[in-house]
Amino acid sequence: MTRFFNFSPGPAVLPAEVLQQARDEIVDWRGTGMSVMEMSHRGKEFIGIAERAESDLRELLSVPRNYKVLFMQGGATLQFAGAPLNFSVAGQTVDYVNTGAWSKKAIGEAKRYSKVNVAADAGGAYCSIPPVATWNASAGAAYLHYTPNETIGGVEFNFVPDMGNVPLVADMSSTLLSRPIDVSRFGMIYAGAQKNIGPAGLTVVIVRDDLLGRARTETPSVLDYAVVAKDGSMLNTPPTYAWYLAGLVFQWLKRQGGLSAIGERNRVKAAALYDAIDRSSFYENPVAKDARSWMNVVFTLARPELDKTFLTEAKDAGLVTLEGHRSVGGMRASLYNAMPMEGVKALVSFMAEFERKHA
Ligand SMILES: *Cc1c(COP(=O)(O)O)cnc(C)c1O
Repeated sequence: MTRFFNFSPGPAVLPAEVLQQARDEIVDWRGTGMSVMEMSHRGKEFIGIAERAESDLRELLSVPRNYKVLFMQGGATLQFAGAPLNFSVAGQTVDYVNTGAWSKKAIGEAKRYSKVNVAADAGGAYCSIPPVATWNASAGAAYLHYTPNETIGGVEFNFVPDMGNVPLVADMSSTLLSRPIDVSRFGMIYAGAQKNIGPAGLTVVIVRDDLLGRARTETPSVLDYAVVAKDGSMLNTPPTYAWYLAGLVFQWLKRQGGLSAIGERNRVKAAALYDAIDRSSFYENPVAKDARSWMNVVFTLARPELDKTFLTEAKDAGLVTLEGHRSVGGMRASLYNAMPMEGVKALVSFMAEFERKHA
């Protein structure tokens, strides 16, 4: 069996320990004579799995008691509609900060339901975060939406904006669980699972109680956070196996020492790669230093005609899925929680060797 160092932006690498545990349990879960995949979501076994996952996630993120944690489907993309439908009335203004490709998609979807004010736009190549002092927030906005980590551009906020009483809504798909956060600063947080949580098919939503119960009447029940919360995320059949696997990932994270420990490891991993890029005159990262993502490190080669060779030789060295997003080109190394320091070190030494051979 071979495990490559997989730098995929998502679906992304999972901890090998978690996959091995899932393998050991896949046919007969703890003497029940069935797989978790085959269980009723309403049976006591699965309810136990689901509750444990929720309490572990709450513990990892120190989620305050006045927040609901929901396990939903439809990806982060469904929540692009979930935010305006749950938190704004038709015609009401909602504020959005545009820092790249995922912000843009969220804005596009919100425009179908609400009046969108783009409070800030990083513009051009989307390589920095516009300073909050320059934001043009609207009075009476239902909420302000932003994308703390832009997975494609490799741009990350190193702060949480203070918008006073306007609730913050954050698409944390590629950053949730990568470091500690103060959940109480947010009205709602959402994340597709396939970056740092578990397999695709599951979406985590964390929402403050006082924002529940305001959904527009036409909101589908499965997207109405109050309804989903009331039914313990089991209004209909949830993605049970993905929920179970996410639970195994949460247990793994706790064994790693929780989010402070994993955050420090992530900081060190990203610094090692950015340092290597900055030291070299062959590789380049275009992102402003204070906005560089810990999770998605983008870089270009001084000779783009060598991109294909780089990817082929990297693969031969056991380093895979390094191509940048099709919209930006170049390379992207995603360094989610399950990417060990050894993988980053292997990439850094491969890059040095490639530069020595080809530059
Ligand atoms: C991957 C990603 C999405 C899309 O997630 P889906 O689960 O595919 O809908 C949205 N936002 C960000 C920041 C992402 O990284």
